[in-house]
Amino acid sequence: MELILAVVIALVVAVAVTSGLVISGRKKKQLPPAEPPSTTPTITAPPAEPHVGDEAETPREEPRRTVEEVDLPTAEEAVETPAALEDPVVAEAPPAPEIEVPEPTAGRLVRLRARLARSQNSLGKGLLTLLSREHLDEDTWEEIEETLLTADVGVAPTQELVDRLRERVKVLGTRTPDELRDLLREELVALLGDYDRTVHTESPEDVPGVVMVVGVNGTGKTTTTGKLARVLVADGKSVVLGAADTFRAAAADQLQTWGDRVGARTVRGPEGGDPASIAFDAVKEGIAEKADVVLIDTAGRLHTKTGLMDELGKVKRVVEKHGPLDEILLVLDATTGQNGLIQARVFAEVVDITGIVLTKLDGTAKGGIVVAVQRELGVPVKLVGLGEGPDDLAPFEPGAFVDALIGD
Ligand code: GDP
Repeated sequence: MELILAVVIALVVAVAVTSGLVISGRKKKQLPPAEPPSTTPTITAPPAEPHVGDEAETPREEPRRTVEEVDLPTAEEAVETPAALEDPVVAEAPPAPEIEVPEPTAGRLVRLRARLARSQNSLGKGLLTLLSREHLDEDTWEEIEETLLTADVGVAPTQELVDRLRERVKVLGTRTPDELRDLLREELVALLGDYDRTVHTESPEDVPGVVMVVGVNGTGKTTTTGKLARVLVADGKSVVLGAADTFRAAAADQLQTWGDRVGARTVRGPEGGDPASIAFDAVKEGIAEKADVVLIDTAGRLHTKTGLMDELGKVKRVVEKHGPLDEILLVLDATTGQNGLIQARVFAEVVDITGIVLTKLDGTAKGGIVVAVQRELGVPVKLVGLGEGPDDLAPFEPGAFVDALIGD
């Protein structure tokens, strides 16, 4: 009897141990595989991004490999083997991240009015107040001139505008506030010129449209590239991002975050890597996945003009091995005034700028820089940055811009 009891106890213990092993074994199977290290040159598929909060629930029992332990492929190799990264992970993989639906772009510029309304001395309002004075004497005209110059409009356009206003006010005789507003609106719109402000993202050939974004670091270049991806996605296009700003630490992460939010793939390389090879790989990837547009963020170091020329020139040449660039957008910070114009000049000598993006218009009451920079480069302002929000990038429309400047 004792013997039977001992055998039964032994059997129970054995079953308990075995089932314990099975459970822990199952647990092991539920572990997600090691994630690819984020710093390797790679193409990042947006669905790899976990939800906020997923991290806490996901057991991470496998030690993470350090960058040094990983055999880094070149950016080109990474592009050539995207399938390896795209393979579904495991059944228990985190759910695909929610892809945001960006706002439509139409009418975005209207919000500039609200942002400028906070500032009492916007260019348009200042001019309107001066023009409404009972006596438009020489001193007043000088003040009008001063207002335009202070708002960065530039000397030649200021002179032109003042001459036109003087002439038209004289013809008008008595001036009602509405008449003055209409007159000023017309003249300011005329000063902004009649340009094709389309951002060209369609290639005439059977390849994706390629847009290169250039500008001094800090102007909002990476943010603009990310916002532009959203604009394109909102318009129903598929986008690949090239993180060729390898100079600024975190620029690639920043761009990838923008891309992930709207489901755009980001091609990136190691920090300090060769921007041209990343740009090349991004276009190659865009062609491979039949994307509509490839956006390339570049580094804007104004160390020397030759250095910049070498760097951007190389990126451009290398990208053009796939086909011509469709758009080269120069990003300028509207709050930097004359400094922005100097930057514009240097970049225009280095690459053929086809459009200007003026960022941080929400941060300046001036706005005259739009006129000055177009005159300087003979290239239109195509987009404007109105804030730090993801959809704060608007197509530039002279009428809506002037309405925002003049206010109610
Ligand atoms: P980059 O070095 O040129 O790539 O500059 P970033 O894209 O990192 O932008 C620099 C800073 O400018 C960031 O804090 C952005 O949020 C901010 N920024 C960019 N565009 C705008 C804009 O239109 N308005 C405002 N207020 N801030 C902006």
